[in-house]
Amino acid sequence: MITAVYPGSFDPVTYGHMDIIERAAKLTDRLVIGVLKNNTKTPLFSSDERVNMLKKVTASLPNVTVRSFEGLSVDFAREEGAAAIVRGLRAVTDFEYELQLAQTNRALAPGVDTIFLTTNLKYSYLSSSTVKEIAFFGGDISGFVHPEIAAMVREKIKEKQ
Ligand code: ADP
Repeated sequence: MITAVYPGSFDPVTYGHMDIIERAAKLTDRLVIGVLKNNTKTPLFSSDERVNMLKKVTASLPNVTVRSFEGLSVDFAREEGAAAIVRGLRAVTDFEYELQLAQTNRALAPGVDTIFLTTNLKYSYLSSSTVKEIAFFGGDISGFVHPEIAAMVREKIKEKQ
């Protein structure tokens, strides 16, 4: 039984993340999505809100579960008995940071490998921060996030403005 974890901020979850989740779920027996609580960036959504969003958009994937975690991704992976950490690669700009992270994680936990899935080209430009910026200025985000997520982003931004 192969378990993998997919850690990230998911603030909010985008079609780019969902593409990685669907593909990683096919490669593993069990995929645990980890919503990072102790992020240095101040998130728009609380970790509970982000967990609920991810649960909504992954409801049709039986081998996917979602939880929040604090601390190191390798500790989260070990807690879940995961053989691998899944990360998405969009462009060369992601590569340097992700490589450093993967090498550090290997040094910390040699038993946990990192699996990179390259993004679907359709979503290679897409990030949660772009989605928030567009929504903040009243732009249309329907091509980037699930309709229910789009409604939650618009609502949250209205509250903040
Ligand atoms: P983090 O703060 O950990 O980078 P993110 O939620 O921004 O959290 O990203 C989580 C993971 O998803 C990272 O591996 C990131 O590269 C990947 N990712 C983000 N956006 C996309 C996308 N559009 N296509 C593929 N992978 C993506």
